Amino acid sequence: MRLSDLNEQIRVCGRCRLSQTRVHALCGEGDRRARLMLVAQAPGQKEDLEGAMFIGPSGRVLDDLLGPAGVRRSEIYMTNLVKCFLPRYRKPKADEIQACCRYLDEEIELVEPAVIAPLGYFAIRYVLEKYELPMPDKSGFDNIVGRLFLAGGKGIYPLRHPSALLHNRSLQPQMESTYRKLGVFLSECKWYPVCPMKFYHRAGRLDSEWIERYCRGDFESCVRFHMEESGVPHPDWMLPDGSEDEGLRD
Ligand code: SF4
Repeated sequence: MRLSDLNEQIRVCGRCRLSQTRVHALCGEGDRRARLMLVAQAPGQKEDLEGAMFIGPSGRVLDDLLGPAGVRRSEIYMTNLVKCFLPRYRKPKADEIQACCRYLDEEIELVEPAVIAPLGYFAIRYVLEKYELPMPDKSGFDNIVGRLFLAGGKGIYPLRHPSALLHNRSLQPQMESTYRKLGVFLSECKWYPVCPMKFYHRAGRLDSEWIERYCRGDFESCVRFHMEESGVPHPDWMLPDGSEDEGLRD
């Protein structure tokens, strides 16, 4: 199936009760080949009325968070877990998520993002369960926000929804710092083509998790990356976390 065909299905969908109260069923927006996909919960009222994503107050917060990360909307793909407005901004019901999630599943298949960033509790819970990652209870929720998980050949990076900042300004430093990492995920490490890690991996001597977590994921957290940047010598067999694997020697 093509994304345009899927979007046609979304626009006329009548699979759940939300089709009776919505104005627009919202399709995803952005680069159809993006490395990074944001998954929000559902459209807000302005989005429902005008048929576009993140054009209300949450959208302004999103832009304020993406700007410092160096991320433009046009280079990512944005979509929702539930495609229709939830009246009075209520929570999505289980049967509504069940009816709608097949569209998100298809979008992930078609766009093939390297990193998926679910925004807010319901999107996070759905994506973690889809990739068979443990979902913590409410008290452990803070611990998974802004952490990169690997599953199904993808990075999963849970984030608070931008609307959280509209209700609680004290979250600003934490949200700015976690969203800033999205800019890192847009490209793989510039040293990757010549990095010994690439050659060890190609030779079957290095677990692919190192590559997914650092070289094609969060290269900014790689010790080797910073040593390369500042010209500090380091052994070929030093791993991205700074430890040395003597087994890789020679
Ligand atoms: S190991 Fe570090 S420096 Fe080498 S390509 Fe991966 S992220 Fe970049």
